[in-house]
Amino acid sequence: MKDLILVRYGELALKGNNRGGFENRLLQNIRQKLAPFSGVSVRKSFGRIYVDPGDNPISPLMEAVSEVFGVVGISPAKRVEAEMQTILKAAVQLVKGQQRMPQTFKVVAKRANKAFPYNSQTINQKVGSEVLKEVAGIRVDVHDPELELRVEVRGKEAYLYGENIPGPGGLPVGTAGRVMLMLSGGIDSPVAGYLALKRGASLEAVHFHSYPFTSERSRQKVEDLTRLLTRFGGKIHLHVIPFTTIQTQIRERCKDSYQITIMRRMMVRIAERMAHIRNAPALVTGESLGQVASQTLESMSVINDVTRMPVLRPLVGMDKQEIMNIAKQIGTYETSILPYEDCCTVFQPKSPVTRPKLDLSRELESRLDMETLLEEAVHGAERISFNPDQLKKEFSYF
Ligand code: ATP
Ligand code: MG
Repeated sequence: MKDLILVRYGELALKGNNRGGFENRLLQNIRQKLAPFSGVSVRKSFGRIYVDPGDNPISPLMEAVSEVFGVVGISPAKRVEAEMQTILKAAVQLVKGQQRMPQTFKVVAKRANKAFPYNSQTINQKVGSEVLKEVAGIRVDVHDPELELRVEVRGKEAYLYGENIPGPGGLPVGTAGRVMLMLSGGIDSPVAGYLALKRGASLEAVHFHSYPFTSERSRQKVEDLTRLLTRFGGKIHLHVIPFTTIQTQIRERCKDSYQITIMRRMMVRIAERMAHIRNAPALVTGESLGQVASQTLESMSVINDVTRMPVLRPLVGMDKQEIMNIAKQIGTYETSILPYEDCCTVFQPKSPVTRPKLDLSRELESRLDMETLLEEAVHGAERISFNPDQLKKEFSYF
């Protein structure tokens, strides 16, 4: 008898030609997630993925797999020889091994191997009576059982499982191409990155840093946030862009109330260039609607004016509280609330416009050494790569 983890994934997403790519990517992502555990093997068979834990305990592996996008459900399972007596023994063990002893159960058997001498109905009956005989106090409830004991006979083997732990859903990271996340040290943009990963995008990030107006610690915070996102996204490159000259020039040459608008337009221009260089066809930001001065529709449209790239805003419909809840759940919140200044807060003018005009923004901007500034910023980009294995000290499951 072998203990395994059975992984189910989203069939709805698997229409058409995408199926092979989806499955292979999911397999690869699960393997990568489990790479820190030695002796684990992951394979695919009949629309399922099975994780053989080797000598590792099951629960840390389950926890790790439950963070892989594309996974819909996970069950601890037992694999035995497809032989009736062996199946009966395993069924009783599985029921007795439940964390919380169920009061009621039903058996759902499936026979994919027609050479197996019993049909599904007979398997149901035999397994059911064995459990009733061996587990004290348990009853059958076919309508609403606490435990649905599944028995699947496939080839020479039978798989038994009960508990179904929900996975995170979404699509496997990498199946939707690459996006460039504009990552600040705040609460929102890491959550936006997480949600882009959830829809199958792989992530790179760009961060604007105004050293020495902003400290090394504020930069460290963004590096930490990137590292935390590798838990869901695998390897992530962070591009740190020197933004001091640009901010200084905006401050010297542009009207106070438009400084934030113009600063954002510069950020988007540079992010777009970085995205081109890195083959990412879209940008992602942590903007929501109406949250701060630069997040009115007028403001967004003036900022958006500098790019033709799609700008994804996964948080657009969310309240701050909802965003904070996700940040807590994914483990970025504690880092995000550290009090180090961001380049935007350092240069915050007294009263930024909430309804900037496009013409005026363009006119003010014409006073900047535009091309030189953009080129210097892109050339000054520093790339730092983060791998999930750098997370080891943070997570119990390693
Ligand atoms: P966050 O919590 O993500 O900082 P916020 O609510 O503070 O968002 P803003 O400061 O207006 O909102 O920033 C809006 C978006 O602009 C951010 O979510 C992020 O995508 C991008 N952004 C802001 N500052 C930076 C920066 N220094 N580097 C990269 N992107 C940034
Ligand atoms: Mg911010």
